[in-house]
Amino acid sequence: MPAGATRPARDICSDCGLCDSRWVAYVRRACAFLHQGFEAMEQAAHGRSRDLENEDELYFGVSRTMATARLRQPLEGAQWTGIVSRIGVRALESGLVDAVLCVQQSPDDRFTPVPILARTPEQVLAARVNKPTLSPNLKVLEQLPGSGIRRLLAIGVGCQVQALRAVQNTLPLDQLYVLGLPCVDNVSRAGLQTFLESSSRSPDTVVHYEFMQDFRIHFRHSDGSTETVPFFGLDTPRLKDVFAPSCLSCFDYTNAGADLVVGYMGAEFGRQWLVVRNGLGEQLLDLVRPELDMAPVTSRGDRRAAVQQGIDAYDKAVKLPRWLAELVGAVVQRIGPKGLEYARFSIDSHFTRNALWVRRHHPEIAERHIPAFAQRIVSRYRLPST
Ligand SMILES: Cc1cc2nc3c(=O)[nH]c(=O)nc-3n(C[C@H](O)[C@H](O)[C@H](O)COP(=O)(O)OP(=O)(O)OC[C@H]3O[C@@H](n4cnc5c(N)ncnc54)[C@H](O)[C@@H]3O)c2cc1C
Repeated sequence: MPAGATRPARDICSDCGLCDSRWVAYVRRACAFLHQGFEAMEQAAHGRSRDLENEDELYFGVSRTMATARLRQPLEGAQWTGIVSRIGVRALESGLVDAVLCVQQSPDDRFTPVPILARTPEQVLAARVNKPTLSPNLKVLEQLPGSGIRRLLAIGVGCQVQALRAVQNTLPLDQLYVLGLPCVDNVSRAGLQTFLESSSRSPDTVVHYEFMQDFRIHFRHSDGSTETVPFFGLDTPRLKDVFAPSCLSCFDYTNAGADLVVGYMGAEFGRQWLVVRNGLGEQLLDLVRPELDMAPVTSRGDRRAAVQQGIDAYDKAVKLPRWLAELVGAVVQRIGPKGLEYARFSIDSHFTRNALWVRRHHPEIAERHIPAFAQRIVSRYRLPST
């Protein structure tokens, strides 16, 4: 954080970058951690808020359609198959937008994010792959006035999108499209180092990693080799303090304010997951539809017992020996939740953990900060006492 920078959300600030722009003036109502306004945001962006009686909307937010997909020709070096970067490229090539807000990497460090307003396909492509660290995306809003950019595609995670939506009507734009990524468990650059050191056999050569639907973390190393580690073998006692406090108090896993969400968690292993929330999201997806191998979403298994066991194990900071973690991982991979049920497993596990964290660390904000949809999900489980 720059010296003297304003950070009203203090310890739970996610460094979304709004406070590094002139739109800091709106921070009290725009910051995802000072003001929780899902209903109003959904209403403004999608024309209605989510239907809490509909299980899919309760979990995944307002949606017109959901599907799974792969780019038929995956983009080399992308996080998954590169659907996000391809949409960014097509949005520029087709003239839909003048610029794409995305995140490149520092020339000195693959994991240090550098947000930019990309004006060329090459600049969008240079932003492919996750920088799994808090990224101040919204600071580049400062470059908008006088730039000639009137139509913008913003790619971002939930906290960035919540703040962006809150100031949208004050931006010097004719049209804004929002392409959202689901997001949990992000870290500061220092936190990332601790995570890599506690989880990978070779932390310094990791160039890419992802928590995947087979309940394993897949690390890719600079020599092209792959390493996989079962979730259940993570060093929970050491990792409990690694995730950013903003992420431990976030309930916007599936990016409620985006027009289109592109993740992986609601798809079976190897495929990406698409949630179209409104007409602008349809327009974005149409840009790449002919290049996609698409399929309907599926759902198998029952997550509930595994979530409850996970809540208790996490709270006690249990660390399993590697052989047992491999065994549990193999069993869960065979009979565990798949497709949308895997996504619900992940949402339940993170929302219960985060509700407990907020109630313990910030009891004064818990009631108003945890949105109604998350309260409903959390109430289905037995939580340890605060
Ligand atoms: C920190 C983080 C956590 C995530 N967690 C989940 C998850 O739990 N479940 C799930 O289904 N999906 C998650 N995703 C999304 C998923 O990992 C892929 O990014 C998504 O499926 C797109 O893949 P792709 O190959 O199409 O992306 P690519 O074509 O490789 O493009 C990646 C895009 O991500 C943007 N980006 C990179 N780093 C950041 C950042 N720190 N902040 C904002 N934008 C960034 C870049 O601008 C780029 O446009 C997460 C993403 C991030 C950044």
